Parts: sequence; structure tokens; C-alpha cells
Amino acid sequence: MAAASNPGMPPHSLYIHIPFCAIKCSYCAFNTYTHLDHLIEPFVHALMRELQILAHSQPGLPLHTVYIGGGTPSLLTVNQLSRILSTIRAEFALDPAAEISMESNPSDLHVDYLSALREIGITRLSIGMQSANQTELDLFARRHDFVSVIKAVESARQAGFDNVNLDLIYGIPHQSLADWETTLSAFLKLDVEHVSLYALGLEDGTSLKAWVESGRLPHPDDDLTADMYDLATTMLDAAGYDQYEISNWSRSGRECRHNLQYWRNLPYPGVGPGAHGYAGGVRYSTILSPQRYIKALNENTESFVFPRTPATDNAVLVERDAEIVETLIMGLRLTREGIVRQTFRDRFGIDLLDLHGEVIQRYVQLGLVHVDDEIIRITQAGRLLSSALFREFV
Ligand code: SF4
Repeated sequence: MAAASNPGMPPHSLYIHIPFCAIKCSYCAFNTYTHLDHLIEPFVHALMRELQILAHSQPGLPLHTVYIGGGTPSLLTVNQLSRILSTIRAEFALDPAAEISMESNPSDLHVDYLSALREIGITRLSIGMQSANQTELDLFARRHDFVSVIKAVESARQAGFDNVNLDLIYGIPHQSLADWETTLSAFLKLDVEHVSLYALGLEDGTSLKAWVESGRLPHPDDDLTADMYDLATTMLDAAGYDQYEISNWSRSGRECRHNLQYWRNLPYPGVGPGAHGYAGGVRYSTILSPQRYIKALNENTESFVFPRTPATDNAVLVERDAEIVETLIMGLRLTREGIVRQTFRDRFGIDLLDLHGEVIQRYVQLGLVHVDDEIIRITQAGRLLSSALFREFV
């Protein structure tokens, strides 16, 4: 049974970081570890304890979305995921209609496993497709091929999932516009509800960055990457997907509610090693190492002030000015909704145009920002130049 909701609290979104992967992908800089399967069960135990500590410091915390990310959550057994979700239901005021998302690797998604995920309450499945091109998947050291993506989507449908996301990556060394078009066409045939596109970044410490720096691979071409973004926009639009965020498209009503919470700069406690969170006016991250995380949760018996737990590593109180900037930058990512001026006024007691009128009007004149009485949002032309605009507010 869910805990009684605290009516004075706004709905929160809970992020859970699962820090295990079977293989480290060549482009990945996330906090994930391979060859630590023996730690998965102790980690689940520690995570349940962290959830209890978090819930006890803020009784009745209402949750309207849960996102199990990583890492590779589909390395966990149904029993382990079920215990995590049972703890959440027992300790928090989880909305019965909550969106509960889980990231997954296509190779792990057999129909029995997926049916069991539906039974324990996972409502949205995110699958790391990345590409339909085997050479690109090999370059990434992914452990799946495109056939396993097709099978995973079929199995998800058989299991009853009606809310499926696929992640795709573009701007890959040696990737041509035609290669990208092939991946997009293959994606469209799968007819899922949502897609997230990621321009490949060369992150510190990754094999991919080392290969580019050593000359073994060419540097991704920025102009070609921009053309790929335009092509995706055109093809997804023609196929009836709505773009609602700079890098996210969905079928009507299938926007990711959890990620909307981030872009609206609303609270999301984060648990698990290397999670980030923002709640109670505090932005924080947790201990990176799974071993240290498990030890901290097992040994610490103190009580903590929300949203801190024994796993909290860095915590910073977000001042009003910083909150305004974050709300602006995140809100402008929402290409359709933008920033609702009344919501902004209610939250900060000032109109956005009184605060940043000069910058906004300059971008309006360049055709990069749209302003009316109700909203401020970036235009189609502004999407590719959004980083420059965001820097103006910092
Ligand atoms: S599966 Fe995902 S989290 Fe794991 S290494 Fe690959 S990209 Fe990173």
C-alpha cells in the first residue's frame, strides 16, 4: 500500500541509477561498471535502504514518475526490480497512474522478462537501439545488433507495452547522411511512441575520444551533424511525430513525463551511485563507486535532512538567481511548450521579459525566439543555435 500523500508537497519525480553494464560502450562516460555482477544484489539491498531513508526524511512525498536508468537496469532480475518498486510503493505516495520508465538493452528483452516487467508495474520501456548499422554498433562496442532491436520491440508489444522509446545516436565518425537516413527509416518501421536523438559527444575518458585524438577515427563533422539533425526533423515530422524538446519526439500524449519534470526544472530526487538530484531547493549528486555506496548505506545509521542520504556526496543550495537561469535554459529546450510566462511569474514573482527583455528581443529579431502574451519558446531556426542562446543567460 502507498504511503499517504503530503498535500503540501508538489509531485516529485524519482530517478534511480543502476550502475552496472555488461560491456562499456566506446562513447560512454556515464557512471557505470562492468564485471561487478556479484555486487548487484548487495546494491539492491543498499538502494532499498536509501529509498527508505529518503522517504522517512520527507513523509508522504508524492511521486508521479519513476525513472530507472543507468547503466543497464535490464541486468537486474524481475525479483530485484520488483523489490525496488515495492519499497517505493510502501514508502512514498506513488500516484497509481505514475509513469514508471526503465532503460534497457535490446539483448536482454525476452518476452517472459518483459511480461513480468509489465506485471510489476513498469509502464514505459526505453530501448538503446543507437543505430541500425552494424558497423556503427561495432564501433560503439554495443552487445546487440539491429535484429535484436526488432525482436525486442515485437516482444514488448506482445508483453503489452504501449509506450516504447528508442534512443538513436548521430554524428558518428564515417557516418554519411545516407547511413543516417537508413537508420531513421529502420526506426520508423518499428512504429514506437517515442524517440530520443543524441548527437555523439566525445567525452573525456572514453575509447572513442582517444581514437579520434590519435587520428584512428575522423572528428565528427559539425556541418554534417547539423544536416543529420535537419533530416531527422523532416522525416520524423512527416511520419507524424511531434517534436516537444530539442532532441525528443513522441506520438501525441506520449511525451516522457519524467523528462518533462527536468525541463520544467521541477524536483526530482536521485538515488543510486552517481545519481543527480534536485529537491528541497538542493542540487546534489551521490557517491560514484558502487562499493562505497553499499558501504555507506550499510554502515550509516544517522538521520538525514531531505533530500540527503548517506550516499549524498555533493549538495548545493540553489539560490533564486541560479534557479531562474536553470528554469530558463531548461524551459527553452521545450520546443512546443516553451516557458509559460504566467507559470514563471507565479514561481519567481517577475515577468521574464522584465528580467531578460533585451536578450530575448534580440533573438526575436533574428527569428530564433518566439514571444507572445503566454509563452516564450525557441523557433525551428533557433533549435540548432540554442547553446549560444543559453550562454547569454548564464
Ligand atoms: S549500455 Fe549504456 S550505460 Fe552501459 S556502457 Fe553502454 S552506453 Fe553506457
